Amino acid sequence: MSRPTHFTFPRLVGRALLRRCPWCGGKKAWFRTWFRRHDRCQTCGLRWNRGQDGFELGAMTVGVFITGGSVMIFLTAFIASTYPDFQVVPMAIIGAVIALVMPVITYPFTQTVWSAFDIRVHPPTRNEFLPDTPEDLLPAALTVEQEAKAIKSTDMWASPSGKGESRP
Ligand SMILES: [Zn+2]
Repeated sequence: MSRPTHFTFPRLVGRALLRRCPWCGGKKAWFRTWFRRHDRCQTCGLRWNRGQDGFELGAMTVGVFITGGSVMIFLTAFIASTYPDFQVVPMAIIGAVIALVMPVITYPFTQTVWSAFDIRVHPPTRNEFLPDTPEDLLPAALTVEQEAKAIKSTDMWASPSGKGESRP
């Protein structure tokens, strides 16, 4: 496997859409079952929750966009194809079924797609992986300065001095 260092956003999302780990492409990713998730990727060891408070809200937002978007597309297509005689009751019933079923079908993909976005914005550092993660699944070695900058950028409470400050 090539080193997953020169990743591109389409590649990250492509893996996410296959329910794989966006970082390493591992098929197991985080999932035990459709709805249950391990804390770490079962292939590379990258944590799903990158440590920010409210990280799950990102996945929920992805879910809202997918489900809301599906309902909007259906309603638009239904009205456009049956106008001016469209029937409200069947439209409402089918729309409700989509709104209930889509979150179930897309649940794991909301997790992987959100992770793909997050990895693109905050590339992982070596200390986010496990000690036994194979070298070829780790980020390329960074200089000390790059590593410190990357860590600082993922910790909004880090102090410029690096000594740490008390959280409010
Ligand atoms: Zn992985």
